Amino acid sequence: MRKLLSLVVPVYYEQEVILQFLSETKTVLDQLDIDYEYVFVDDGSKDKTVEIISEQAKSNPKIKLVVFSYNHGKAAAVTAAIANAKGDYLLYMDPDLQDPPIEIPRFLEEIEKGYDLVWGIRSEKKDTFLNTLFSKIFWGSLNKFTGLDIPKGIAVMRIFNRSFADEFLKYNEANRFIEGIFINISKNWKTIEISQRERFAGKTKFNFRKKMQLAFDAIFDFSELPLKMAVRIGVVISILGFIALFVLLFLKFFIIDFESGWPSIIASIITGFGLQLFFLGIVSLYVGRIYKEVKRRPNYSIRNKININE
Ligand code: UDP
Ligand code: MG
Repeated sequence: MRKLLSLVVPVYYEQEVILQFLSETKTVLDQLDIDYEYVFVDDGSKDKTVEIISEQAKSNPKIKLVVFSYNHGKAAAVTAAIANAKGDYLLYMDPDLQDPPIEIPRFLEEIEKGYDLVWGIRSEKKDTFLNTLFSKIFWGSLNKFTGLDIPKGIAVMRIFNRSFADEFLKYNEANRFIEGIFINISKNWKTIEISQRERFAGKTKFNFRKKMQLAFDAIFDFSELPLKMAVRIGVVISILGFIALFVLLFLKFFIIDFESGWPSIIASIITGFGLQLFFLGIVSLYVGRIYKEVKRRPNYSIRNKININE
């Protein structure tokens, strides 16, 4: 029996690229000995994205669409796409064609060798200087912070098998750092280098602020290092404080009987106070996340589904 490949594709204000995406992927997929479906999740776009996909879906049952009520973020959109995909293999790609569809056959070839996951790695990066620099810092510091072993230069395009997808869906945490979850699921993965193109049309949705937020989220979701750091610095400062205290007492009683000055006292109070607030802040960030997790709210709300019947 022919295997089914699901293309899981989050879309958010992508009206300029959808048709091109559909035609380029069709050209590639029709040549393969495999059945396929598209699982689009619209993450609350207010342009013509939903209209265009729905129109195509009328004449093509391979096109499935989940429409979110409003924007929930890319991680939620990817999750919903995976949850609605029926494939034996699932290929996650963006519709902007930065990772080109001509690479799909290579992904299939690799996954059929029995890996759970095959990630694309960008051989060359067709991106702005700032974006490239940011990615380097982001992934580098992330791996350091979290102890995760996420490969350098990963692309969006990646393929995984059914059991991997099922495992992924068991992760129902509210704070979702997708790459971290992926790497947590299985160690049986490999990377392949793929070519890159410019974004076909439209604009990136990730401005600097959003990217910083992502980096921050990832670190707090996958690492307790900030907490441990707080403890370590606290210990060091306490030890220094004790030493200073003894030295001062010793000086005062045995060497010189100096007057204690207020500037030094104010300085140490302010420093101590500042540090306490800083660490309280770190703890609060974790508490906030715990709060979000224990509420167990759904990760997204769906307005409607097209060509998907359960
Ligand atoms: N995306 C989404 N929700 C968002 C932002 C982005 O589903 O809130 C989707 C977007 O449609 C695209 C993918 O996430 O398919 C990656 O976005 P983009 O190409 O803008 O990011 P970049 O490739 O520049 O990092
Ligand atoms: Mg992109």
